[in-house]
Amino acid sequence: MGFLKENNRTIPVADKVFALNGRAKAATAEKGKDKVINAVIGALLDDNGDLVVMSSVVDAIKTLGPVDYAEYAPISGTPAFREAVKKALFGKFVPEGFIEVSVTPGGTGSISSVVANYTNVGDAVLTHDWCWANYRNICSQQGRKLKTFRFFDEEGKFDSADLEEQLNELAKEQDQIVLMINSPAHNPTGYSLSLEDWDNVVRIVNNAPCNVVLFLDVAYIDYAGEEDEVRAFMPKFEALGDHVITIYGYSASKTLTAYGMRCGAIVLVTKDEQTAVEFKRASEYFARSTWSNCNRSAQVLMGKIYSDPELLAKVDEERRGYRDMLLERGRVFEKTLNDNGVKCVPFSAGFFVTVGCDDPAAVGAALEAQDIFALALPKGIRVSIASISKEKCVKCAEAIAALIRK
Ligand code: PLP
Repeated sequence: MGFLKENNRTIPVADKVFALNGRAKAATAEKGKDKVINAVIGALLDDNGDLVVMSSVVDAIKTLGPVDYAEYAPISGTPAFREAVKKALFGKFVPEGFIEVSVTPGGTGSISSVVANYTNVGDAVLTHDWCWANYRNICSQQGRKLKTFRFFDEEGKFDSADLEEQLNELAKEQDQIVLMINSPAHNPTGYSLSLEDWDNVVRIVNNAPCNVVLFLDVAYIDYAGEEDEVRAFMPKFEALGDHVITIYGYSASKTLTAYGMRCGAIVLVTKDEQTAVEFKRASEYFARSTWSNCNRSAQVLMGKIYSDPELLAKVDEERRGYRDMLLERGRVFEKTLNDNGVKCVPFSAGFFVTVGCDDPAAVGAALEAQDIFALALPKGIRVSIASISKEKCVKCAEAIAALIRK
């Protein structure tokens, strides 16, 4: 007894998401797929409830050889992978300046890396109050705190005033701030910042009285809408001052429907060569001292796909079909909710929709009693529309609306 050192971390007894998913799976096994709605996990399932694995990606995987799996990869990633990430991430909006790419195990690894290398122990990272719960865990694991600004004001608009206030407040205590923004197709709300919202972000960080590391978590970018439209915010960062750097958290998990291959990248954009050199040194050191090198086969796969225009066109085309399926589910969910007199938290696209409510735990429990499984967050219910069919979206929205109205 008593061997564990908590070190100020809050280590939960069980991961809430995986526990809820476990109950949903048990209910499905007992009662059948049709009787249960499992809207817990953020992985894309088809209307039959089976995991979507893009066939164009599977075909590409089949061309890999034993060495592609077995050999160690360079710490910062294979050269072909690093080139592939630039294409995948920026599309036609490749920024000016120095771009450094370092492979990470999924987008999660990029978040750990930015926290480790761009904040002091004890610092706070700033993000929106609606956020992926793992941001808090990653900060806690590394002896950092998570501070939040209000994502939406009373009118449901991006609350840039509160962002400015919280950033300036934190600047009184820290000489550098990591500001994390998850957009487009934010988890858990599905919100995508508008170009006007981004203008405000740029203005606010440019006026900040300290260094700012603007961390852009774009894990869901390839499901947010048309490729160019969803990247149109990127050129805005050309106007950032010298006290700001942008770092992207890239994830191949959703982009390639390859969650288990654990592939992502941390990507720096800067005008300053020295900052780029430092980034490379620090991100490689962090990788070496935590997960070491990443999965080589996933990197070879990315390299193959993004250097073969024909193959890339196939993958993009196939993903577009799934993206549109997902967008349609989102529209249907939102419309059903609205038709039943309830609004969701501003939604644009993505794997999740969130419905705000006063007692999420009670609503979540009441849903579970009807064999509808969705995650209760501090201020609402998160529904993974990625994992349920259009028909189930309708049922789920009706059930949530009925409970909230009651
Ligand atoms: N960022 C957000 C907001 C996410 O929801 C996720 C996954 O759920 C990730 C990043 C990283 O995912 P992965 O590490 O699987 O690439």
